[in-house]
Amino acid sequence: MALTIGVDVGGTKIAYGVVGDDGAIIERGLRHSPAGSPEKMALTIADAVTELATRHEVEAVGIGAAGFVDETRSVIRFAPNLAWREEPLREKVGELVGLPVVVENDANAMAWGEYRFGAGRGESHVVCVTVGTGIGGGIVLGGRLYRGRWGMGAELGHMQAVPGGRACGCGNSGCWERYASGSSLLMEAKDNAQADPEGAEHLLRLGGSVEGIQGEHVTEAARLGDRAALAAFESLAGWLAQGLADMAAVLDPGCFIIGGGVSGAADLFVDRVREEFAARLTGRGHRPLAEIRVAEMGPSAGLVGAGDLARLR
Ligand SMILES: [Zn+2]
Repeated sequence: MALTIGVDVGGTKIAYGVVGDDGAIIERGLRHSPAGSPEKMALTIADAVTELATRHEVEAVGIGAAGFVDETRSVIRFAPNLAWREEPLREKVGELVGLPVVVENDANAMAWGEYRFGAGRGESHVVCVTVGTGIGGGIVLGGRLYRGRWGMGAELGHMQAVPGGRACGCGNSGCWERYASGSSLLMEAKDNAQADPEGAEHLLRLGGSVEGIQGEHVTEAARLGDRAALAAFESLAGWLAQGLADMAAVLDPGCFIIGGGVSGAADLFVDRVREEFAARLTGRGHRPLAEIRVAEMGPSAGLVGAGDLARLR
């Protein structure tokens, strides 16, 4: 079996592992992410790769990184949560480990992992939406990962949903991720608790106060029937459905996959997303409906996807 190494680099952790051509992780590890230093980051990744490469015969390395990666899959132009600016990561790590290296955007790697081995298996046109603190995404069209002309495609979270709306970390305002992400879910729950404390009994008990409410409290309270928490999920579902309907108008995928941290609470909102999607889709009633599925691979999707993309380099 042809083996590769997949690496998933985030702001706090580096997850890495040996990936088989069936998507199985044969050995895995986890290290602290030296997010503030590009030099230490390259060394840490290379050290992790070398450790695995001494025990397994691997042919290439795929690195999924939270940033804007250029179209040659070599340079990270910019990373909002890491210190990379025009960072030639492919070259740096390649020289240190002596293996072919490819660098991918982490959401692209995750989408590829789910497409090949998870919820997207058997589909050819897949849009993966990663709903966490923000919204990331990856697009597979006709069995190929769509990167765009300069590698910057599929930044789904930064489509403008509301002109003049909430400020976004990207410098624009009204971006979709300011309405349909985990952070917007929390913000809405807090607003609801403030406006209607009687309907937020569980939220306020769990958080101690409006300010003390955390993301996990919103899920827990919603499961207990808390009105304010349920209304926040209802709002999330509406915004998600609108974004998916807009993407379906452009891309016409066979399937959407909802992943990321918030997908752990998918039972609280995914049916509602399906209903709202069907109600908002252009041409509805005269076209097949894309399936809306929940991601299956959890946090491993990025690592497995990066390893698999390295094999297909
Ligand atoms: Zn934005």
